[in-house]
Amino acid sequence: MDRLDWVRILPPWLFPLAATAVGLILGSFANVCIHRLPRGLSVVWARSECPRCGARVRAWDNLPLLSWLILAGRCRDCRAPISWRYPLVEGMAGLLSLALAWRFGPHTGVLVMGLFALALLILFFTDLETMLLPDWITLGGVAVGLGLAPWNPLLPEQVGALPAMGLALAGAAGGAGLILAVMVAWRVWSRWRFPQDISEELRTGMGQGDLKMLAFIGAFVGLRQVFFVTFAAALMGSLFGLAMMMRRRAHRHTLLPFGTFLALAGIGSIFYGRQIVDLYLSLLAWP
Ligand SMILES: [Zn+2]
Repeated sequence: MDRLDWVRILPPWLFPLAATAVGLILGSFANVCIHRLPRGLSVVWARSECPRCGARVRAWDNLPLLSWLILAGRCRDCRAPISWRYPLVEGMAGLLSLALAWRFGPHTGVLVMGLFALALLILFFTDLETMLLPDWITLGGVAVGLGLAPWNPLLPEQVGALPAMGLALAGAAGGAGLILAVMVAWRVWSRWRFPQDISEELRTGMGQGDLKMLAFIGAFVGLRQVFFVTFAAALMGSLFGLAMMMRRRAHRHTLLPFGTFLALAGIGSIFYGRQIVDLYLSLLAWP
């Protein structure tokens, strides 16, 4: 009995609308995390301020999307441009919330998926901007994923609380193990292939942040889907890298933000993961 019964007496349009509004506000919080977590700053006692003139952002200038539009993307005090990433993240969080409300309806599962999607959105941008995947999100996400496993709509139903946590644990271990295997294989190959003076990150191909992030994703999507997420991210990363090489913006040693592609694939798996795994398994069963 996990349906939120009180929602039933409300008009049907209210839940998606409220979810979108909550998403916009959470997008604002995601922006704070994206800016502060890679710099080792607290997000709990954060007071938003202009990075150029230090003026504190007033409450009425902190409305998601609207404030950026009203201020035309500039600080009210010093007119310094405010990154377009702020309204973009807010808009994406709002749209994701709406899509989750539409996909899962007023169930407790929508809250679990909302947290998962928010964390992926934050990691998408921290990896893109700083090549960092903060432990607060990845390792914290593993703990939250295990704890919320009984209410997770991506894990198979008809299992009790402990089996659900077991599935989440298997997903986390599977995700981390997969990256570990790739890292070890890559290290053996690149030691032979590349000279000794290249960085550890280039030598391994992936960082420890990716390993922790895959454990976090696995804790939310389970063992089967975590392989799909890894494969889809690697495919997207390869295609993107190839496209960049053809446009001569990158060469073989350019680091691509793998976490950004993992976040994209993770969000995809919320909506289509189970169908894709089922399709794949049905293809395997083809006589
Ligand atoms: Zn300013």
